[in-house]
Amino acid sequence: MRAEVFDLSVVVPLYDEEDNVRPLFEAVRAVLRELPLRAELVLVDDGSRDDTFARARALPRDPALPVRIVRLRRNCGQTVAMATGIRLARGRVIVTMDGDLQNDPRDIPRLLAKLEEGYDLVVGWRRRRRDHWSRVLPSRVANRLIGWVTGVPIRDNGCSLKAYRAALIRRIPLYAEMHRFIPAMASLAAPRIAELEVRHHPRRFGRSKYGFSRIYKVLLDLLTIRTILSFARRPVAWLAGLAGVALAAALPFAFLALNGLTSDGRPSVVWSALTLLAGSLALFALALGFLVQTVHRGHARDFDLYRRLACRRLDPLEASP
Ligand code: UDP
Ligand code: MG
Repeated sequence: MRAEVFDLSVVVPLYDEEDNVRPLFEAVRAVLRELPLRAELVLVDDGSRDDTFARARALPRDPALPVRIVRLRRNCGQTVAMATGIRLARGRVIVTMDGDLQNDPRDIPRLLAKLEEGYDLVVGWRRRRRDHWSRVLPSRVANRLIGWVTGVPIRDNGCSLKAYRAALIRRIPLYAEMHRFIPAMASLAAPRIAELEVRHHPRRFGRSKYGFSRIYKVLLDLLTIRTILSFARRPVAWLAGLAGVALAAALPFAFLALNGLTSDGRPSVVWSALTLLAGSLALFALALGFLVQTVHRGHARDFDLYRRLACRRLDPLEASP
């Protein structure tokens, strides 16, 4: 693994944020200047079509805050952009935040202090969220749902402002739009998670990249994550349960088939068919269970399978030293 030469890496995904790049850099620099830390800023341009990349390249060089810039060839989405930044980051601690200045860099020292209390992950909570109600309300419902389904009750899963121990976040598979489920995915590694109230501001420049389609995506992701989590915790339990139920149904069906012989001495078609159906379902679930067990064993350590899925979408074009 790469040497962790910084105390802190601040990782920011940027998609069409040209007017935010410079103010963001200045704001982060102003905060980090006050901290006795060696820090770097990692900017990931997620295939912006505006001037974001050029503006990032034109940022002033400051030895106190080196900036690494990576550009994805096309728009891959916020999670992939974050994952790319995290892979490049060389800090012992990683802070992720949005690039639109809705998160406030002045919260970084508080997140770090909380982390130092002995947590592996500190999650921001935008208590007073400064977005339109049509976004805040679905997000409230989603957070409840996510907490309920994943068993990790975090109040604000969508808040990008988080601080992690690098060793932890590197073990969490991040793909598709999974950045909203980082605490849930992190729970696989049994970390100590803390929540911290953070500031939130209205967007000043540019516009939000998400619309109502986000609701649908979150619901789908929730289904995926539920499957991953339950497989990770108890891989074959679900399939074994299914096999058990099918078998339990097949036995009475078989009994009825043999018992209810028709007048010409042949078993009833209906009960025989049901016996066959339930029996094959039981066999199928069992076979699948063994398969899942085998696959899972091969990948259990750090969910390499999912990591590779994520990497396939990583497409760095240019990276500054
Ligand atoms: N973002 C990104 N790729 C995308 C969409 C968003 O890198 O495909 C970045 C965006 O530039 C911003 C952050 O992710 O820095 C959050 O996006 P946005 O502000 O649009 O989300 P919202 O605040 O509306 O939830
Ligand atoms: Mg935003």
